[in-house]
Amino acid sequence: MRPYLSGEKHHFPLATATSFSYEEIRVKLFETVREMGHEQVLFCHDKELDFTAIIALHDTSLGSAMGATRLLPYASEEDALRDVLRLSRGMTYKAACANIPVGGGKAVIIANPEHKNEEMLRAYGRFVDRLKGRFITGQDMNICPEDVRTMGRETKYVVGVAERAGGPAVTTGLGVFLGLKAAVEYKLQKQDLNGLKVAVQGVGNVGKNLCNHLHKNGVEIFVTDVDKQRAEEIKNLYGATVVSPNDIYSLDVDVFAPCAMGAILNSSTIPSIKASIIAGAANNQLEHEQIHGKMLEAKDILYCPDYVINAGGLINVYNEMIDASDEETVQQLNNIYDTLLEIFSKAKEEGITTHEASKRLAEERIMNARKLKVAA
Ligand code: NAD
Repeated sequence: MRPYLSGEKHHFPLATATSFSYEEIRVKLFETVREMGHEQVLFCHDKELDFTAIIALHDTSLGSAMGATRLLPYASEEDALRDVLRLSRGMTYKAACANIPVGGGKAVIIANPEHKNEEMLRAYGRFVDRLKGRFITGQDMNICPEDVRTMGRETKYVVGVAERAGGPAVTTGLGVFLGLKAAVEYKLQKQDLNGLKVAVQGVGNVGKNLCNHLHKNGVEIFVTDVDKQRAEEIKNLYGATVVSPNDIYSLDVDVFAPCAMGAILNSSTIPSIKASIIAGAANNQLEHEQIHGKMLEAKDILYCPDYVINAGGLINVYNEMIDASDEETVQQLNNIYDTLLEIFSKAKEEGITTHEASKRLAEERIMNARKLKVAA
């Protein structure tokens, strides 16, 4: 697909936008969508404002597809499509593993964040509205709660504007902490984190929260962030040791907690990792699910599947939508702990990676929901 230049006033003519023929595009798209198991993928184009968005509904067996919208100047349309397809599938697994009765969806607006404006957000809100509740969305990269409120002027199918229980990042941080505890119990046979060493990559909204819980539990914290001020703040607050972004992987620690970006578990980084547990919030941590999941297993590193351990944000917005109490939210966050223990045991029993075990668990729950629907 052709590259998309950041800031470019872009056009996507009907038939001639790429070097592929119509037939080639159709075959590749359907091949991908079929392989990944998506129900529906919508390519949205606002003719007046000339911006594009992709909404992907992966699976609605458990309920409406829920997933946040991110706005990015993707390097290519292919990158945008890959991102939305992978993230929407992750949402299906995330909801199923968290026992939240929603399906998986995701949307990307292909634009330069500097070009974001009210008209664009409202036009996007109308695209969401036309799905009549099959897709419910909220905030992700470059979309803030205020932007979601703007979309909400066109559709009621938005969540995450009330910032209940401190907002998604606070609950995600707590969920990651509970998941990390489960991994420590399973792998190191320790209920108490006191004295353990944890390396946190990225101390933004979630990473900072995680550090707070770790500090309260007597953990020795190591941090890195490309934003040096953020790392320094954690040093001042929690006595953390600050290291450079390149050095975070090879630290002699018990747990590595990726809380910055995806694809950081790959063939270059895995060989240098000394931690025996990986437990962090970042989405899509494994660059290649099969290859790098197996590489971690071969090194006897216990990997907490990202969409299981970082489900706190989804739990938060879902509970805001159904107006559940904060106690119910805490209960569901505790389920992250139990589900991870179940996944670790399942992986061991079936001789598979933890990533594969979490996928199977999610698929079993989705298949059961489908059977119940058919029987009803
Ligand atoms: P954030 O943008 O607030 O924080 C990310 C931090 O990582 C920033 O401080 C950034 O400077 C730093 N960073 C970026 N690149 C880095 C690098 N190469 N090395 C070190 N630090 C780097 O984001 P967040 O809300 O804290 O989310 C963190 C991760 O967790 C993201 O991958 C996000 O998709 C995922 N996640 C977040 C939530 C949520 O509720 N916010 C929920 C689920 C998953």
